[in-house]
Amino acid sequence: MEHRFTKILATIGPASSAPDTLRLLHDVGVNAFRLNFSHGSHKDHGKAVTRIRQISESSGNPICIVADMQGPKLRVGPFKDGSIELRYGETVTLKLGDEEGNDTKIMVPHPELFAVLEKGHVLKFDDGKLMVTVESNSGKEIKATVNVPGKLSDRKGLNVIGAVLPMSAMTEKDREDMAFALTQDVDYIALSFVQTPQDVREARAIIGDKAGIIVKVEKPSAVEQLDEILELADAVMVARGDLGVELPLERVPVVQRQIIRKARAQGKPVIVATHMLESMIDSPTPTRAEASDVATAVYLGTDAVMLSAETAVGRHPATAVAIMDRIIRAAETDPEFWDYFRNRRLPHDANSEDAISHSVRGIAQMMSCKAVFGYTASGSTVQRISRERPPCQIVGLTPSQATANRMALSWGVRPLKTMDPANFDEMLRHIQHLSRDYMGLEKGDRIMISAGIPFGRPGSTDTLKVATVD
Ligand code: PEP
Repeated sequence: MEHRFTKILATIGPASSAPDTLRLLHDVGVNAFRLNFSHGSHKDHGKAVTRIRQISESSGNPICIVADMQGPKLRVGPFKDGSIELRYGETVTLKLGDEEGNDTKIMVPHPELFAVLEKGHVLKFDDGKLMVTVESNSGKEIKATVNVPGKLSDRKGLNVIGAVLPMSAMTEKDREDMAFALTQDVDYIALSFVQTPQDVREARAIIGDKAGIIVKVEKPSAVEQLDEILELADAVMVARGDLGVELPLERVPVVQRQIIRKARAQGKPVIVATHMLESMIDSPTPTRAEASDVATAVYLGTDAVMLSAETAVGRHPATAVAIMDRIIRAAETDPEFWDYFRNRRLPHDANSEDAISHSVRGIAQMMSCKAVFGYTASGSTVQRISRERPPCQIVGLTPSQATANRMALSWGVRPLKTMDPANFDEMLRHIQHLSRDYMGLEKGDRIMISAGIPFGRPGSTDTLKVATVD
């Protein structure tokens, strides 16, 4: 099978930002790139955007760019010697401030912590690798006992378990980064540490329709209010790194499954992220468990799988993408992959868009169609077809470059920027030409075309044509 349905989102960093490496990553299978605003300068991110747009133009492939905001991530301050050792059973002191800490005190630049923490609350450091339990809080100084020991170095992440902190979902830095990202015409903005639907509304007030919003689900409160948050978002990410620190680890696979199912039901792209091929940061091959983890996300019907440090700072960024591509393709050629979608019902609205999208899946299966061509202005119709997970390529045709780029993240969609045809006959000629010359389809291959006539009006899809390549 030539076409890969599940998409690959790769994070850019020092290991991948050179023009040749970006090009190579695209050539081996990256559909979307993530700029991580927790690291790098605006200048670095701006350069990456320019390079990706050049690759997109020279290859003719729309590429999706995601600007990932840092969010209100808590961190400890720096240490005099770069790190300290937390020993089991020892009492440590946390103090408010951003100056250097030492063996006896950890500086924390977040007053919210000192406002709400009480005896019994748990703090985790460095993605949950170290853990302490609060014994007392004077408002200026917190004493805590070390439960899980280890080395704690400069500015490592800090998660508070069991307390809701009175923090805004968007920091000053996020607002500046978001404003910058919008000047770069990124396709999606990813929001970190979303806790409530209101957090998404606040971001929407700034972003409007200039970019899509991806909600990163990594807080228990976001999991609890997932339905409403999903309604307000354009896409969602299972941010397993922080999710696995904030929730008990064993909840991560359960929540991953739940998020994929709910996002698909709403027709919103879903990304499974973090630790997918983690060992490839150093090793040229992944572990069997990692290969299995990627395949599991694919079998569950995720739209995209993400590489983080593997491509940002790893030693084998292109190999990681190539191996991810192979794992996805192997799962997608398994008949059971398709059985899963056939056997799961989706909620449908009583409108022609949903009726047509639903029919596409049945017709593709019954007539072994090779492709469905969908004319779309906003991407909505093609997204509805994509959520049905039909067993044929979905070609998303749009005059909008932004819509084409955004569709690059969606399951099964091959986006193509093209002018809307003037009438039905011109459409048929155009599709015949695309089928043969662009898609490499052969005489006699069955295809479908979904369109709203007149062309170009969002939400007007009312026509489904079955045709044969001539
Ligand atoms: C995560 O926590 O899994 C994640 C994707 O977010 P970040 O990489 O920003 O920590």
